Amino acid sequence: MNRLQGKTAIITGAARGMGAATAELFVAEGARVIIADVLTAEGEALAKTLGGNARFVQHDVTDEASWQRVLQAGIDLGGAVDVLVNNAGVLMFKTLQQTEKSDFERVLSVNLTGSFLGVRSIGAHMLERGRGSIVNISSVDGMKAANGLGAYCSSKWGIRGLTKVAAMEYGHKGVRVNSVHPGGVDTAMGNPYAEDKAAVNQRYQMVPMQRVGEPNEVAQTSLFLASDESSYLCGAEITVDGGMTTGFYYVGFPGAPGVE
Ligand code: NAD
Repeated sequence: MNRLQGKTAIITGAARGMGAATAELFVAEGARVIIADVLTAEGEALAKTLGGNARFVQHDVTDEASWQRVLQAGIDLGGAVDVLVNNAGVLMFKTLQQTEKSDFERVLSVNLTGSFLGVRSIGAHMLERGRGSIVNISSVDGMKAANGLGAYCSSKWGIRGLTKVAAMEYGHKGVRVNSVHPGGVDTAMGNPYAEDKAAVNQRYQMVPMQRVGEPNEVAQTSLFLASDESSYLCGAEITVDGGMTTGFYYVGFPGAPGVE
C-alpha cells in the first residue's frame, strides 16, 4: 500500500492506457502524481477520480518549455520530484518505403526526443537533489525488429540507448535510470481495433504466455523501478512481454502448447 509513500512522480502520456494505470497504481501506493498529457479531458477526468494526490497538467513532451511547467507542478504538489516515467508515445504502421521524412521525424520527436527532454529537464532537478528514479518506457520493438514499424522501432531502440547513457552519467550522482520493454498490451495502441480479449489473445498464440498483457502488469514493473525496492538497478532493461522476446513457438513441434 505504501511503496511510494512520500514520493512525487511525473508520468507522461498518463491520460489513458498504461500511463493511466501507472498513475492509479502510484497513487494507491502513496505517491503524489502529475498526470502529463496532451489529452486534456481524459487527463482531468482521471485526476478527479484519483483525488488530491493527483493533478493534470496539459503537456506536450516535444515542447521543451512545457517541461519546466510540469516540473514546477510537481514541486508545487509534492515539494520535489522523485520519479519520472517517460511513457508518452505514438505508433505508426508504415513500411520504410511508405514512410515520409516528416512521418519519421514525428514519431522520433514524441517517443525519443520527448524522453530525452524529460531525462534532461527533470533529470537536472533530480541531480541537484542527488536522488531520483527515471523509468523510460521503450518496447519489445526496442529489442527486436517489426515489419511496418521502422520509425517506431528506431525510436524505441533509441530510448534504450538513451537510458544506458543516462544511467552512466546520472547513476554515480544518485539518480537511477532504467527501461521497461512491454510486449503487446491491451490499450488503444496495442489493440487499435478494440477487439475482445479472445480475439486479441489469438494474435499471441506463438508467444509463451499466449495472451495480451494488461496495462496494470506493466505499471507494476514501473512501480518496482520507481520505488526504493529497486535501489541497485541502474541501466537495466526489463521485458514485460509474456515471453515474446524469449522466442516464438514452432507450432506443432515438441514442447509447443498441446504437443508433448
Ligand atoms: P496509448 O495510446 O493508450 O497512450 C499513449 C498516451 O501518450 C496517450 O494518452 C497520448 O495522448 C499520449 N501522448 C501522445 N503524444 C504525446 C505528446 N506529444 N505529449 C504528451 N503525451 C502524448 O498507448 P499505451 O499502450 O498506453 O502506450 C504507452 C507507452 O507504452 C507508449 O510509449 C508505447 O509506445 C509503449 N508501448 C505500448 C505497447 C502496447 O502494446 N500498448 C507495447 C510496447 C510499448
